[in-house]
Amino acid sequence: MYTSALNVLKKITDYGYEAYIIGGYPRDLYLKRSSVDVDICTDATPMELMNIFEEVVTTNSEYGSVVIIHDKINFEITTFRSEGKYVNNRKPSSVLYVDSLEEDLQRRDFTINTLCIDKDGNHIDLMGAKADLDKRIIRMIGNPKVRLKEDALRILRAVRFATVLNFELDPTLKLYIKKYAPLVKKLSRERKKEELDIIFASSNKEYGIKLLCELKLADNLEISNLKKVKVTPSMIVTWAQLEALNKYNFSSSEKETIIKILELKDKNLLDKKVLYDYGLYVCSLACELYGVDKKNLNQVYSSLQIHSKLDIALSPMVICNVLDKEPGGFLKGLINDLEDALVYDKVENTKEALTEYITNNYN
Ligand code: ATP
Ligand code: MG
Repeated sequence: MYTSALNVLKKITDYGYEAYIIGGYPRDLYLKRSSVDVDICTDATPMELMNIFEEVVTTNSEYGSVVIIHDKINFEITTFRSEGKYVNNRKPSSVLYVDSLEEDLQRRDFTINTLCIDKDGNHIDLMGAKADLDKRIIRMIGNPKVRLKEDALRILRAVRFATVLNFELDPTLKLYIKKYAPLVKKLSRERKKEELDIIFASSNKEYGIKLLCELKLADNLEISNLKKVKVTPSMIVTWAQLEALNKYNFSSSEKETIIKILELKDKNLLDKKVLYDYGLYVCSLACELYGVDKKNLNQVYSSLQIHSKLDIALSPMVICNVLDKEPGGFLKGLINDLEDALVYDKVENTKEALTEYITNNYN
């Protein structure tokens, strides 16, 4: 990814423009952490970039960025810019292209996100990014009082970076986050959930949760229960405790998992039929929350003769043949009964034993 990114920079600079890797990638490289994406900044405009690269996938040229594909990797390239007046504490109403990297860095969020790498791999550190990375501190570029009001997402990004990197928040930034905490109410559900997902998925989530509560964000994000959650490894188990199903947009699989985890509260997780019905994944999540030993759970699960209907040694067709009946409504109840009998080991999962079982019970 790094070599491909440097090649992208070379291509842009060959056309006479400046270009740098910026943001998360240099930050994570300096911290020896892995990165998911590479952000590039340049003085070339989106139109100019479209002439340089054939494979432009999306253009957000209104906001001064394009995504190009190089070596099958997506790179987001953003033109140096400053931002006009902000509307609704989130988006700038206009962007203004600027000539220099220095000016572009001024509109970015935190010092730790301003480290740049040029086409030869040199680090360019104009805003003291490395000093703050060494001090492990999240510091806003400019005055937090202004910058948080401009864009309230920065409040959540600050807590997210502090959590994931295990950094302190600069005291002034912290003060203004607390002061402007109500501004997060205006953010879209999607953006709020994206940031909370990252915080709740972090192995350092306990710290993130502490910050969200201490900085009055939990209440403003309508997740007041956060104060009493049991901290467990899985993100979805944190969400399950927050009564947030109607307040945030969950995918249908997330919703289903949360509902099942909550249903399992009053069930015995080590009961074979409970484990069979809910499956190992959801039951393992419930174990984290309800304090059941996962080793015991795995043991019970591997002792099950079947893990789904498909494992039953007699197919529905064969069952009909054995009983000399046409397929029909009776099959559903019969298969449910077989599942129960197999899960509780009342019958062995072999063709012979099952044939005998259904002949005795259903003829
Ligand atoms: P990661 O990609 O690891 O989540 P990142 O720092 O690269 O972290 P991105 O969302 O990819 O974050 O944004 C790229 C860069 O754009 C950031 O490093 C930052 O310099 C700038 N940026 C992103 N969002 C904002 C914002 N809301 N306000 C100001 N600058 C921002
Ligand atoms: Mg990034």
